[in-house]
Amino acid sequence: MFGWLRKHAAVRPIPDALWDAMLARHRFLAVRPPAQLKRLRELAAQFLASKEFHGANGLEITDAVGFAIAAQAVLPVLNLGLAWYDDFVGIVVHPDEVLARRTVTDDSGIVHQYDEVLAGEAMEGGPVMLSWHDVDGAGASADEGYNVVIHEFVHKIDMRDGAPDGCPPLPSREARREWLAVMQGEYDGFREKVIIAQRFGGEPPWLDAYAAEGIDEFFAVACEAYFVNRSRFEAEFPALVALFDSFFDGPARHVPLSGAAAS
Ligand SMILES: [Zn+2]
Repeated sequence: MFGWLRKHAAVRPIPDALWDAMLARHRFLAVRPPAQLKRLRELAAQFLASKEFHGANGLEITDAVGFAIAAQAVLPVLNLGLAWYDDFVGIVVHPDEVLARRTVTDDSGIVHQYDEVLAGEAMEGGPVMLSWHDVDGAGASADEGYNVVIHEFVHKIDMRDGAPDGCPPLPSREARREWLAVMQGEYDGFREKVIIAQRFGGEPPWLDAYAAEGIDEFFAVACEAYFVNRSRFEAEFPALVALFDSFFDGPARHVPLSGAAAS
């Protein structure tokens, strides 16, 4: 192991062989223009030097684990800059999905406990948890538009201005109002499709039905597909492609203050 998976290590360029091996496994990265790949590689090296990786349940943090996560995690901030992730350092990687015990109190005050299966989780100002099985499968799952690393790091971006609400920090109330007007419309339409599919046997939508859980999940799930399968996503959500381009392709932005937790 190259020993750069420690906090505050020096930024070291990623060796060609390891980088090429990572690209070979992640076609959705490899297809990007050379200038973007150069930037992605530089940002991934900086990301590795600024984060602390922890293997859980016996998972060993190898270079392949570090590179695969770093290269995918920096994709949403390729233009925005790494400062969007400067409110945390820890990345916890499990071999596979984990069970999280949840407690909810219903309207009549009855407490319910259940286990939620998690492939990832992002805590506000805190660590990101990831299932290596899902991270490592990112190349294969790009056809379905599924990417757990991008999902959790988009939650991180969403939480820079408070509780996750499907709207990243934007420069003005007007910009926020316009963003949410588009998102809410697309989310309502998607939720309708999921309900029709689940209750009346309609055609299930291409995008992961988990996106119907809430507008914050819709934003994270939609971004997965936007970054790993743009052409199919554009066919399904043309209005969202324009909206996301206006944010993720925009110039590096100032990072405002924070908020909550999301899975
Ligand atoms: Zn989520």
